[in-house]
Amino acid sequence: MQVIHYKKELQNVLFSKENKNHTIGFVPTMGALHKGHLSLVKRAVNDNDLTIVSIFINPTQFDNKEDLEKYPTDLEKDIALLKKVSSKIIIFAPSATEMYDGNITSKEFDFNGLEKVMEGEFRPGHFNGVATIVELLLLAVKPTKAYFGEKDFQQLQIIKKLVELKKLPFQIIACPIERESNGLAKSSRNQRLSKSTREKGGFIFETLKTAKSKFGTENANSITEWVAEKFAANEVFELEYFQIADTETLTPILKKQKNIKYRAFIAAYADGIRLIDNIAL
Ligand code: AMP
Repeated sequence: MQVIHYKKELQNVLFSKENKNHTIGFVPTMGALHKGHLSLVKRAVNDNDLTIVSIFINPTQFDNKEDLEKYPTDLEKDIALLKKVSSKIIIFAPSATEMYDGNITSKEFDFNGLEKVMEGEFRPGHFNGVATIVELLLLAVKPTKAYFGEKDFQQLQIIKKLVELKKLPFQIIACPIERESNGLAKSSRNQRLSKSTREKGGFIFETLKTAKSKFGTENANSITEWVAEKFAANEVFELEYFQIADTETLTPILKKQKNIKYRAFIAAYADGIRLIDNIAL
């Protein structure tokens, strides 16, 4: 199992004579790997000759210092989990100084409004940090295909837009959300939930599923009110936002239109941990 810490070293391996004509699959992560990450990695291993998994907790995308400080890390466990998928995976685990060439700051991006709603509204600067690091990583790895989870659906749309705006020749592959058996979307942050909260974690997905079934007959306002009431009556989960939006533009729904696909999005807190989830309607 190869673990590489420097861009130059990674490029020496990737662009060596031996690997020159190989297809490269890339899965960027922040580590503390779970089955959600591994589903992306398995897909990449299946589709490509070589798979790179980056493990890098990107400081510039954290709007909350405590969230960054408490973000779980366990490189040894991550290596062991990846080894079980394939011992040929290359792990790229750079330091922040290495990744940012010493200048650990975000660039400013304009994604046509995609970055302004939902996560963009509640986590100022988050998507500038995400786009900055994803661009740096994509340029370091130059993958044939890069894999992202629908769990972070807004991030996925922003990365597709980034690749389009910067004319980067990499294919972005969307992967479905992996869930715990009760429906809670897998997340590295779930480790920080109490056992009892984790057991009740299906509440968010249950609410999304009911919202989906209501979408056939009720308007978005009444569904939004219903969700707010459900959360108000729940002692564990505190709603930050519920939003039904156009899947492509992420514009909040005003009036349902036939030719537009919609998705419902939730951000909520439990035990002081921020959780997000979404569902296609
Ligand atoms: P993270 O380490 O949280 O930055 O996530 C790395 C990648 O894994 C992102 O593309 C996420 O969207 C994806 N991911 C995280 N959780 C899940 C999940 N439960 N199901 C599918 N993909 C996920």
